[in-house]
Amino acid sequence: MSMSSFVDPPAGPLLVAPTARDRRGAGESRLALSSRVYLPAFSIVAVAAVLIGIGWSSRWGGADFAASMTSLRVVVVGPITLVILAVFLVAERMHPAQVRPLFARGYRQDLLYTVLNATLVVPLGTALALSFAEVARRSLPWVVVPRIGVLPRWVVIAMIFVAMDGCNWLAHFANHRVRVLWRFHELHHSQEDMSVLTVFRTHPLIHVSYLLALIPGIVLFANGAVPTTLLVVYAGIVAFEHSNTNLGFGPLGRVFVSPNYHRIHHKLDGPQDVNLGFALTIWDQLFHRAVFPTAQTIRTDTGLPGRPLIVEQAGSRPRHFSVLIAQLVAPFRPVGDVSNLPPVPEGTRRRGRWEESNPRAAAEEREVARW
Ligand SMILES: [Zn+2]
Ligand SMILES: [Zn+2]
Repeated sequence: MSMSSFVDPPAGPLLVAPTARDRRGAGESRLALSSRVYLPAFSIVAVAAVLIGIGWSSRWGGADFAASMTSLRVVVVGPITLVILAVFLVAERMHPAQVRPLFARGYRQDLLYTVLNATLVVPLGTALALSFAEVARRSLPWVVVPRIGVLPRWVVIAMIFVAMDGCNWLAHFANHRVRVLWRFHELHHSQEDMSVLTVFRTHPLIHVSYLLALIPGIVLFANGAVPTTLLVVYAGIVAFEHSNTNLGFGPLGRVFVSPNYHRIHHKLDGPQDVNLGFALTIWDQLFHRAVFPTAQTIRTDTGLPGRPLIVEQAGSRPRHFSVLIAQLVAPFRPVGDVSNLPPVPEGTRRRGRWEESNPRAAAEEREVARW
């Protein structure tokens, strides 16, 4: 909207019944709107807003919001998580899959996402999780099974852990198959300089899809809750599988997701709907989507072919903050806005050469990077 539209005098009387022309005008403006924004993306915002609205009005189902936020912060950036991150930041320097400068552009960008997670995403995630649990308990009270005395606590915890990982697999699969979810998940796949911090490179609103993983915990709530320490270990596994470390876990790599295994999921020349597992590879094996690492896949390039989403590696300067804003706004931009650009010709690689062979795409990226 231009500034002049605020100062233009109204074209006619204000209080008249809408005419056919006005109605046509409304239809046209809707069309104009959908050519400027990707409307389905707002459904995710609506789901998040309705959930949080219900959670807030029911006082989070009696849960202590501050205490819940503290435990989520412990999982995301608590001392143990930070130690795991630090260990793998060192490991990936010592035994890298791909040799890169210490301050590669992708590392700096993902550091911004780490800060975003520690500040804004923790309260948002807490509000979403408490609201979702409250809505599930209230609308489907029968899903909460009563206490099963014969089950030892550790069995219950193991069951929740495995089922939670299965739900994450399912949500991740949906992220790849449902277009509106892919538009939010795409950001995670755009990283060309993967590191342990890439775990934080996610759109804050994609967490709406991963609320599914709370269901096993809600179902078995009366039998025991997963200790925060176990969630920290889980978050640690998910973080270090993004590490640039050449590490396959040996025989354990058949069961647990290793960095070499997850890198195949981020492979530049796809298919990206393989190796969707979070901590366990069993779901991929069950649905014939497991591709185990080989000597050729370890050093594979990662990212999205043709760079449909602006990345910090494009352009002569990284422009971290404007790229961050553009990446967060991207799901709301019309499909094909940048994605309908000519495909990357066979044999050409991104960086430098990509800009040369795709002048139009490069110009669009510069355009986005300006604001
Ligand atoms: Zn994915
Ligand atoms: Zn990933």
